[in-house]
Amino acid sequence: MGMSRRQFLQGGALTAAGIALSGTPSEANADAPVTRIKGLKASTTICPYCAVGCGLLVHTKDGKIVNIEGDPKHPINQGALCSKGSSLYQVAVNDRRLQKIMYRAPGSDTFVEKNWDWAMDRIALRMKETRDKTFKATELNKKDNKEYVVNRTDGMAFFGGAGLDNEECYLWSKFARAMGVGQLEHQARL
Ligand code: SF4
Repeated sequence: MGMSRRQFLQGGALTAAGIALSGTPSEANADAPVTRIKGLKASTTICPYCAVGCGLLVHTKDGKIVNIEGDPKHPINQGALCSKGSSLYQVAVNDRRLQKIMYRAPGSDTFVEKNWDWAMDRIALRMKETRDKTFKATELNKKDNKEYVVNRTDGMAFFGGAGLDNEECYLWSKFARAMGVGQLEHQARL
């Protein structure tokens, strides 16, 4: 049997009125936020994506992340998140997320698994090699044709991320300057 547009709208209105009288949806809505996170441990953190620095609540059960949402008590975002922040759960809990060091040697077409100690030693070695090769103690200024002390390397750049807090950024930039690196950039600025 067919149904006209008017009959369809009348049926929908009656159903909505019946639900409103029974009170069921409003009770369910009021309880939903509490039951959804009942018994879970909540930890606060900051979204790693951009310089806005929205606050997050990470809910865990038995040490595993089961939910991530905006922190309603955070002064910056007051519970709201943009689409990137809203999808953070899928970044944290994702079987396609790479969690091991995979290394492809120059000229090779194959990635091999390495451990963190190996990776840290390798990074330190390559940084030292690059710095030694490119460090300049002085540089000629073409305008006045004088040699000035610069103590820098242009062979490396440092790139920070929005997941770093103030103290980490301070240490990170100090380390860069101590290495003689003048090119510092930040992921959230790009
Ligand atoms: S990426 Fe979105 S949720 Fe994350 S800090 Fe920036 S604005 Fe906030």
